[in-house]
Amino acid sequence: MSFAGKTVLVSGSTTGIGEACARVFAASGATVMVSGRNEPRGRAVVAGIVAAGGRAEFAGADLRVPGACESLVATTLERLGGLDVLVNNAGILYTADALQTSDEQWLETMAVNVNAVFYLSRAAVRHMRAAGGGAIVNIASEWGLNGEVNHVAYCASKGAVIQITRCMALDHARDGIRVNSVCPGEIHTRMVDDILAQQGGEPAERLRSLAAGIPMRRLAAPAEVAWCVHFLASGRASYVTGANLPVDGGNDATAGPYP
Ligand code: NAD
Repeated sequence: MSFAGKTVLVSGSTTGIGEACARVFAASGATVMVSGRNEPRGRAVVAGIVAAGGRAEFAGADLRVPGACESLVATTLERLGGLDVLVNNAGILYTADALQTSDEQWLETMAVNVNAVFYLSRAAVRHMRAAGGGAIVNIASEWGLNGEVNHVAYCASKGAVIQITRCMALDHARDGIRVNSVCPGEIHTRMVDDILAQQGGEPAERLRSLAAGIPMRRLAAPAEVAWCVHFLASGRASYVTGANLPVDGGNDATAGPYP
């Protein structure tokens, strides 16, 4: 499905799933605003897109900073001339139970994973409503649907993302704005590598044992999430709003450990 003439903002798109989203939208003809904190990395993503014949720009943003989300949307509108699709991808994760989670970790998790999703979406909806419509896709997590040991702040934050999705979908259905989420399972990015590193042991062996517990017996590549985001943002999903799409190799289909 072509996104020619459309403008797309992806938060946290200097790495991982966000970078993959930026690449698939650009490959479909969209002009993409790549954003994040790491400017050299962001400029490298833009250069890769441009080298492949696509259109992209970079805007720096630390979404924890008050006002940064509103500024990022304003910058996107100013530099790209519109905002048809917002992908709320930026996210952080601390591995800790409640007693180990500091106030700072809790508040930072909520600032990036919840507040930024809300502030970016609210700013985007102001524009989209006036423009006659748009699409928002939030990157939640299978850990927003189910609990996970030692990840209370992250799981709570991703559960909130799913509820933001549902409520904003209902509130803005009549404005022509669709709001959906994807719930990735185990996607091979820096985030998963960091979790495995904290567990210690041989990383390759950790990866193998993680994959062994997934029905499809493998982790996903970031692009496998990005194409689902692309679908939900596209006209092919014109009657889909308020939905959460698990992209998890079958994890959410089972109630217990997969044999
Ligand atoms: P990642 O660490 O590569 O990507 C996270 C991105 O968010 C990075 O680019 C990071 O710089 C950005 N970010 C973090 N804090 C930010 C801030 N304050 N301001 C601006 N940007 C900030 O990991 P990923 O796996 O690609 O994660 C992308 C999204 O997917 C996250 O929301 C994550 O929770 C979600 N997710 C990932 C998995 C997985 O298995 N990898 C599973 C479920 C959900």
